[in-house]
Amino acid sequence: MEAARNLAVSNSENQEQRVENLLKKGLISLWKKEAQLHTRDSGTYYPSYLGYCLRKQYYIYVVGERATPENLAVLMTGQGVHEIVARAFSESSTVESIEEKITLSFTDKIKLSGRVDIIIVDIDNKRYVIEVKSASRIPDRPYESHLLQLEIYLHSLNINDGFVLYWNKRSGEVRAFAVGKNNEWLSKIYERAAMLDYHICMAQLPPAESYLNGKVWECRRCPYLQECNPGPLDI
Ligand code: SF4
Repeated sequence: MEAARNLAVSNSENQEQRVENLLKKGLISLWKKEAQLHTRDSGTYYPSYLGYCLRKQYYIYVVGERATPENLAVLMTGQGVHEIVARAFSESSTVESIEEKITLSFTDKIKLSGRVDIIIVDIDNKRYVIEVKSASRIPDRPYESHLLQLEIYLHSLNINDGFVLYWNKRSGEVRAFAVGKNNEWLSKIYERAAMLDYHICMAQLPPAESYLNGKVWECRRCPYLQECNPGPLDI
């Protein structure tokens, strides 16, 4: 009797695992299909990555893009939030575009290419760029990587104002931070793109930025942790 019960429990555990694995496999498959649409050519860099660990971006270009099912679940939750935010704005204001493609060229070799989440036109007929971020906690001020991303969009579209809009996945709280187009960001953006380009062209590993800046949580979920091996993570 006990053995039969154990067998039933173990069968249902197997089935539970099977369902989890099917979902993970499906996530990887969806991601691979989408990844085929994006080539990673040196010289063209991405606003949504540029503010993050330079070494990780180097691996994406040199080793190839990788993701874990957990990374993908987070990414796709974010995509779901983007969609609902765009739909909500469409109900209450004029949405000029969603996922508009932009390019910001610095030299004939280095450019940034990406897609802007949402552009809305408000009652005063002004255009605003909305950069949506889903998070488990709303920060007191926008993260630098998010500001950098929004500044790229503002400069490429020559729009003066935008917002980083945080959506708390746990509590449902939302908060918008106003950001103005600021020329001081341009040199910083170019500096990072040029540094990344240099390291990729010279096949030289950039500094382990996240680790050196104390962001070990980024290293813990980094798909290149093994190659990078930046140091102990229990600090
Ligand atoms: S492990 Fe950390 S430092 Fe290394 S590439 Fe990944 S995020 Fe960057």
